[in-house]
Amino acid sequence: TVDLTGQRVLVTAAAQGIGRASAEAFVQAGAEVLATDINAEGLATLAGCTTARLDVLDATSVAEVCEAYGRIDVLFNCAGVVHGGTVLECTDAELDLAYDLNVKAMVRMVRAVLPGMRERKSGAIINMSSVASSIKGVPNRFVYTTTKAAVLGLTKSIAADYVAEGIRCNAICPGTVQSPSLDERLAATGDYDAARADFVARQPMGRIAQAQEIADLAVYLAGATYTTGQAYCIDGGWTI
Ligand code: NAD
Repeated sequence: TVDLTGQRVLVTAAAQGIGRASAEAFVQAGAEVLATDINAEGLATLAGCTTARLDVLDATSVAEVCEAYGRIDVLFNCAGVVHGGTVLECTDAELDLAYDLNVKAMVRMVRAVLPGMRERKSGAIINMSSVASSIKGVPNRFVYTTTKAAVLGLTKSIAADYVAEGIRCNAICPGTVQSPSLDERLAATGDYDAARADFVARQPMGRIAQAQEIADLAVYLAGATYTTGQAYCIDGGWTI
């Protein structure tokens, strides 16, 4: 088991899904957790955490929330959005939003926490990517796959620049994970059961992941002191 006693962790998108399960898992591991999201109602039902409303698209808010919380030892950049469609179907607005939320928001968060980590010569940054990235081309996920590939690039770049300063930066690359937004995407196809069966079929383990299983990897990476710059696939065998 990973013991994060005394560690201060900030999680983005912690009101539901993987972010929420991770905030809970960090608390279980003994950490002090600042759980953030734009959904304050969702945060209100999280036990054991400090919570703050934080829109990661808003640079001022990112700076203010991080400053107000103080020392941050572990940053879990979990916020992200999934758009469907091919390169010919996506709009510029979708592309802009995905770059802003999936990529630039991580940069904003890193800029806010990295100076303190450098002073202490210690810190762990965990970025949410996906196997739908530079790891695997997934049909009908052009915007998503493009931006999640960028997450792996920024992860490796930060890892390379700060490896000698005691700061680690890794990425998590899930397959399909049970979450409220997954259910919305399945329902939006018009045939929830068929869409779900399709998603299950592409996972060789024959099931979709539980958010808790991804949260366990986030906790592991917070404490895994000899790894940096890596993309950790956790995908039920999808990329074997
Ligand atoms: P989700 O999509 O159900 O929830 C996302 C959360 O993000 C919500 O609580 C929402 O309020 C919050 N959010 C949205 N915009 C925000 C903003 N501007 N600032 C702060 N918070 C904001 O959760 P999920 O499906 O567990 O996805 C979490 C992350 O995991 C995303 O980055 C997603 O791309 C990634 N991921 C998910 C899956 C999956 O199958 N669910 C697979 C691979 C990667």
